[in-house]
Amino acid sequence: MNICVIGAGYAGLVTGACFAEFGLKVTCVDKDKEKITKLKKGKVPFFEPGLEEMVRRNAAQGRLFFDTDVGRAVKNSLVVFICVGTPSKEDGSVDLSAVDEVAKQIGASLDGYKLIVTKSTVPVGTTKRVERIIRENCQEPYHFEVASNPEFLREGSAIEDFMRPNRVVIGAESDQARAILKDLYSPLYLIETPFVVTDIQTSEMIKYACNAFLATKISFINEMANLCDKVGADVHQVARAMGLDQRIGPKFLHPGPGFGGSCFPKDTRAFAHFAREVGVPLELVESVIRVNRRQWERMVQKTEEALGGVVKGKTLALLGLTYKPNTDDIREAPSIFIAQELASRGARMRVYDPAGMENASKVLKGDVVFCKEPYETASGAHALIIATEWNEFRNLDFDRLKGLLADPVVLDLRNIYEPRRVQDKGFRYVGVGRG
Ligand code: NAD
Repeated sequence: MNICVIGAGYAGLVTGACFAEFGLKVTCVDKDKEKITKLKKGKVPFFEPGLEEMVRRNAAQGRLFFDTDVGRAVKNSLVVFICVGTPSKEDGSVDLSAVDEVAKQIGASLDGYKLIVTKSTVPVGTTKRVERIIRENCQEPYHFEVASNPEFLREGSAIEDFMRPNRVVIGAESDQARAILKDLYSPLYLIETPFVVTDIQTSEMIKYACNAFLATKISFINEMANLCDKVGADVHQVARAMGLDQRIGPKFLHPGPGFGGSCFPKDTRAFAHFAREVGVPLELVESVIRVNRRQWERMVQKTEEALGGVVKGKTLALLGLTYKPNTDDIREAPSIFIAQELASRGARMRVYDPAGMENASKVLKGDVVFCKEPYETASGAHALIIATEWNEFRNLDFDRLKGLLADPVVLDLRNIYEPRRVQDKGFRYVGVGRG
């Protein structure tokens, strides 16, 4: 079967490459010419473990193609996935302009039956809106259908997540559409992946409900951590004991600087905005958004307090700029907020990240020095801040760091170290929620 995926970003390219790996003929389309040129040469324009190798292998075996022309790809495909970006607007609502633009292009190039599937994260009603736009732009009244198939992959483990998902959600209205989508995912049946097959609105709703719930769990444990800091309790023990309760579960109970990235911040805002618009405000999600923002700010405050109240004129080393490890994505990363905020308060920032340097160098302004590795970063700094939990930062040589730092202060915003281990090396240790 020939399919195409429009939008060859973090989610779309993984989707396309993985479907090709399933044996389908896939064309990944993007309007970004530079991206497509790179992909045609076997170069993945962002960092995702294992992806480049998978892209090259499937391209070499004649199953994966790249194009900038939506029309051509649509004409050659039975199924068209829309996986373009759905960023936030100023007011928190979703900017659907890329989805609308693609829907128009699909409509204009329709030449027979196609199944158009929204994979981008979109508010309830968007897939139906896509259907309307396609119909309005069709040359002739061709029969086509729309469906929703939200994506749950996580950057950093995207291939594994796509290949072994917890579930696949399909929202469709006809047996034919359901059958086509089930067929596409047939390799996952063999590994007994649960399929939730439902209507389109429910499918669209599921994606936002999941992200809002995960964001809520993070904000909840961060609030517990802040209270632990105040009363001298250890949030790790609290989280462990909570997680052992099977009704709660241990996942997503890791305190830290707050959530970031390309999904949770924009999706919680979009969900809250959408719900307000339809007159059913999500009080919990609204407060999760506020709590998270406060958590980012709290990290800056924590740093200031650790340095005696003032960062102006101080040199600070910050490790980790991406919103999580194993990606180069810095979109809404708390580490970027923290680095920028400290720089704007007069700190001289020295920063390092294993994969996010190029992206970070485009956004960080002010007195920021981009270093090549953790020890160079620490040189002469009045504190070391660990902002993202890359494996590379999990076994730092504290004896060496002690000789390099101007003051032996460690702010471990991801709680990757045992406080005692760092303190025993003569450091002042500040974690999140560790009393
Ligand atoms: P991205 O910004 O990495 O990629 C989007 C791509 O779409 C870009 O390459 C852009 O050039 C392209 N594009 C935009 N308009 C286009 C057009 N008119 N024609 C062709 N291409 C166009 O975004 P992403 O992170 O891959 O996210 C895409 C969607 O998937 C979003 O809705 C997001 O919420 C959802 N999603 C993302 C993830 C993730 O981890 N990144 C996970 C699940 C779902």
